[in-house]
Amino acid sequence: MSRTPPASHAENPSTRHESPSPCAGEAAVLRAENLVKTHYGEGAPARAVRGVDLSVRRGEFVAVTGPSGAGKSTLLHLLGGLQRPDSGSIWLDGVRTDGYGEARWAVERRRRIGIVFQFFNLVSNLSVADNVELPALLAGVSPKQARAEREQLLAELGLQGKERSMPGELSGGEQQRVALARALVNHPPLLLADEPAGSLDSKGTREVTRLLSRFHQRGQTIVLVTHDARLASAADRVISFFDGRIADDAELDGTPSRSLGISGVLELKD
Ligand code: ADP
Repeated sequence: MSRTPPASHAENPSTRHESPSPCAGEAAVLRAENLVKTHYGEGAPARAVRGVDLSVRRGEFVAVTGPSGAGKSTLLHLLGGLQRPDSGSIWLDGVRTDGYGEARWAVERRRRIGIVFQFFNLVSNLSVADNVELPALLAGVSPKQARAEREQLLAELGLQGKERSMPGELSGGEQQRVALARALVNHPPLLLADEPAGSLDSKGTREVTRLLSRFHQRGQTIVLVTHDARLASAADRVISFFDGRIADDAELDGTPSRSLGISGVLELKD
């Protein structure tokens, strides 16, 4: 997991134009080309993401697995605009976004991306109900509709009766589920989730798995980083990440790995 908050970044003039994605005609919700990110901390530079090409089609449920330190969280942060790549390109719905500044990314996330990270980003002085409803209200959903969505999501996540609680009164696992409800309340075209069951017991993990599967069946596109095999098995495509690169990319329905040479979907970069 990345340890620093996203750096503020200015608009990059070289990518300010919303150039169409090379695969804009395909139903790629998300596309990344040759993404590179190195972290400079106290020790040696960490080459967290080393040239990743990735295309996620509308409605796909992609699990990203791999050992700790492989660069999975960094990849997710890049895809959600929470960190900026050193080089490479990102398209969301065919629109190039890697040159966006922080404010523009924030708008983009509100419109199109639900994000659940290990540190749950709940507003500590708002109740559970308000935390979940807030993104919907900000997006212009009526209070009645926001409330209905919130009630349904919290019920699906086994959190009935917690509406009036403050985040600090909940267990880590409960907070994690509230964060998931908050990310899904607007039905975002793309959900990015980093270990959304990382603090949960097996019952909580089952609930989250069921919830994600249900959203996936309704057409939700999901990119999920997880260590949990049960959660990964709910996906229809599993990407193994190793040393900052995609080491394998396979459909879970028995289709052979999409490795080298399937252009437009995935290419391994050296
Ligand atoms: P994973 O999610 O697979 O565990 P990460 O993306 O969190 O991997 O980390 C990849 C590498 O980058 C690791 O060596 C980690 O220590 C390093 N790293 C991640 N975030 C930062 C950061 N903000 N500053 C310095 N190094 C970082």
